[in-house]
Amino acid sequence: MSRTIIRNGTVVSLDPEVGQLDDGDVLVEDGEIVEIGRGLTVSGAEEIDASNHVVLPGFVDSHIHLAQTQVRGIAGDWSLMGEYFDHMLGNITGLYRPEDMYLGGLFGALEKLATGTTTALDWSYPNSLEHGERAVDALNDAGLRAVYTYGPPGDDAAKWWFESDVGLPEGNVRELYDEKIRDDDRLSLALGLRGPDFCVDETALADLELARELDALATIHMGAALWPSSVYGEGYQGFGCLEDELGPDVNVAHGNHFSQEDVQHAVDAGASFSSTPEVEMQMGHGIPVTDKVIEAGGRPTWGVDVCSSVSGDMGSQMRIGLQLQRMFDNQEVLEGDKEVSEVSISCRDTLEMATVEGARALGLEDEIGTLTPGKRADIQLIRTDDFMTAPNHSPVQTVVFQSDPSHIDTVLVDGEVVKRDGELTNPAVTEEFDRFVQSGRRLIDEAGIDL
Ligand SMILES: [Zn+2]
Repeated sequence: MSRTIIRNGTVVSLDPEVGQLDDGDVLVEDGEIVEIGRGLTVSGAEEIDASNHVVLPGFVDSHIHLAQTQVRGIAGDWSLMGEYFDHMLGNITGLYRPEDMYLGGLFGALEKLATGTTTALDWSYPNSLEHGERAVDALNDAGLRAVYTYGPPGDDAAKWWFESDVGLPEGNVRELYDEKIRDDDRLSLALGLRGPDFCVDETALADLELARELDALATIHMGAALWPSSVYGEGYQGFGCLEDELGPDVNVAHGNHFSQEDVQHAVDAGASFSSTPEVEMQMGHGIPVTDKVIEAGGRPTWGVDVCSSVSGDMGSQMRIGLQLQRMFDNQEVLEGDKEVSEVSISCRDTLEMATVEGARALGLEDEIGTLTPGKRADIQLIRTDDFMTAPNHSPVQTVVFQSDPSHIDTVLVDGEVVKRDGELTNPAVTEEFDRFVQSGRRLIDEAGIDL
């Protein structure tokens, strides 16, 4: 049995029963959290000194396209309906070879781990079965817990998007699942549905049926752009043909344009929402759905979305999402001719959206998302003795607003240390670095992207 004890940390468990402990210990056996308390007596355990650290659950990124990592930093001035669809989905994605999927996925996953994210939903556009296989290999080799999302291939935008009547490649999905995901405890499968915004109703429903047959989460980009009525006929259609199909196994990415009534309906049905505030603000998706989800009694989750545009760091999303929501709430008070005498959602709220709510959205709340005996040990340690984080009066505020990825000292996934003393332990970071850079250069060159 492998045994690790994290000693003397400020434990922010996010579990209401465990609470917050000063000088707390977390005991991990074979990747499972078995005990949390003070002064635990154990023998034969590897000790991790957590004094002057906040110990908390790893972040859960509920929506990211990891394979875009080697083309990071090209989409920072792009809009969704202008450049992104044309350049990314209509051009670059089609140029990916299986090895590009691997290298983007690998370095994307390593960035996740380095920045404290221990689980991500990786929304993939595999051009072939082999592309999908290499994308999954990358997640495995990086050591990230992941929901691999088999989306439409990226080789032919006209075939797979807009009025597409071609269903997801079922044979490939099944083969990849059987071959690489089914028996892996750290991986699960989702299907990346086009949904009624991007394919015909029959296809949207058939894709959903396939997801349900495979017991896979169905995640769908929806309500994320203001479709001109000349392009989309009737314009706003809400959930369209999926209206009566929503459930806890449906995850809505973005959802900016849904009405309060439709969001209420989705929340009542148990569907989850992934908000990616930074990219949504930039690309013209519209105002994040956060407020409507909270109003409906739900909790949104955070995602990075396209790391071709913004940093893969989840901490940024939990900060931006929180402050953006407060801005809207404050403005509403001001417009009611009142002074703002309290802020709306709290630092703890946004931290929960970045952890346990993400886990719930991905169907993993029994396994991860809080530090709870019985759950898997996906844990991060954030330094509080740095001149930029000390003196740590409020651990939650230190985590949310005062720390950045450079303060994330140690990260464990499934009890395995993947970052120690501020450095990733995976030799791929240096060994694969040159290939990663070359992959990015080739893609940009061949795509003819002018930067
Ligand atoms: Zn997306």
